[in-house]
Amino acid sequence: RDAMKKRKIAVLGSRSVGKSSMVVQFIENHFIESYYPTIESTFVKSVPYNGTEYHCEIIDTAGQDEYSLLGPKHAIGIHGFVLVYSVASRKSFDMIQVIYDKIIDFCGVIDIPCVIVGAKMDLKNSRQVDSADGERLAAANNAAWVETSAKDNVNVANVFELCLAEIEKRAPRSQPE
Ligand code: GDP
Repeated sequence: RDAMKKRKIAVLGSRSVGKSSMVVQFIENHFIESYYPTIESTFVKSVPYNGTEYHCEIIDTAGQDEYSLLGPKHAIGIHGFVLVYSVASRKSFDMIQVIYDKIIDFCGVIDIPCVIVGAKMDLKNSRQVDSADGERLAAANNAAWVETSAKDNVNVANVFELCLAEIEKRAPRSQPE
């Protein structure tokens, strides 16, 4: 019955914060210097978590700004959300709450399974967002939080495990598919 649970995960955030690099590092185990920035792609990967094999469909979105409208494609049928900012961009960090609120509004819920990710943590000299700020934002929104480097492959797999954990936390016995 639990052979293959399907989980859809959407990766959102400002443009060029490192969404694609993170997803590609997770799926293909290598770092890509640049990617087609406007293309949305879906990746699938089987992820073992907590003794169960999850069939994950990961939607790498093109990126959002304050004017982007959240479409049904990024909300309906999505089990978990990965919201990415770059630790080297305060603006991308400020966008996280904006995107979070858009999801909440669109879905008509008060809480979503969500991981907030501070990407590019290897960029130590151009950091604009403290870890404490990230942690605080996540706590305020009942979300998980982690900092990553797709370049150095730090904490990348963690992101998706944390996301599965957030999903399962809220639906321990439902969502049988
Ligand atoms: P997206 O638009 O959010 O999907 O961002 P991309 O994945 O295309 O990355 C944007 C730029 O940031 C590219 O030039 C990447 O090489 C770079 N980048 C992505 N991840 C990292 C990282 O972990 N560290 C560093 N230093 N650069 C990164």
